[in-house]
Amino acid sequence: VSRIIGGWILGVRRIGKEVIIDVADGPDRPADRWCGVHLRMTGRLLVQGAGDPPNPRPRARFELADGRAVEFADTRRFGTIRVVTDPAELEIPGLDPLSPRFTAAQLGQLIGTSSQPIKVWLLRQDRLVGLGNIYACEICHAARIHPARPARDLSAADLVAVHRHTRRILRRAIANCGTTFADFQDAHGLTGSYQQYLQVYARAGEPCRRCSGPARDKPRILRIVQAGRSTFYCPGCQPD
Ligand SMILES: [Zn+2]
Repeated sequence: VSRIIGGWILGVRRIGKEVIIDVADGPDRPADRWCGVHLRMTGRLLVQGAGDPPNPRPRARFELADGRAVEFADTRRFGTIRVVTDPAELEIPGLDPLSPRFTAAQLGQLIGTSSQPIKVWLLRQDRLVGLGNIYACEICHAARIHPARPARDLSAADLVAVHRHTRRILRRAIANCGTTFADFQDAHGLTGSYQQYLQVYARAGEPCRRCSGPARDKPRILRIVQAGRSTFYCPGCQPD
């Protein structure tokens, strides 16, 4: 990490859950090293003004020449920081679902002939980067798709729905402070603003917010385990 001390930050971008900082020797020099901060489950990068009280226990602190600092807060300490000098090392195999290149047709190509349950497939970081367990449950519910359906059996209309809701849910999560969503996954008491949007996640036994009308036999959210992870879905609007 000492290789970036004294360098100029030329740009900051995000690929999935990794934040990439482009670093050069001067403002007019090309970037020749890259710092990747992977947020994993609970990591956050916080900009601190000159007068702000420092975070009690940041994983790392980047001090900027103008007096500000960027702190890497990471309560569960799964996040990583790496510095590489070869940009090829930054290439990650999966596609960023928020990239303009990501289309419903491309989702179908990525799925190919995979017989994995769609909810399990959505978590594959070598296909789509950055989808966590909560997102995958919420996407299946929003798209009205049973989480155990083999991915290859999705119709063209299903693919359009999964594509659309994946982008919508991810955008909203990022707008609501990004990883607040991930924090909530393990700290149910947390008042992450995304919590109010959750339709199925951690709601086992509760009525479905979409299809449980007062006059009807109320479907309740079910919890199953897929590939070792909890899945929540509504048997009413996500039929087999
Ligand atoms: Zn429902």
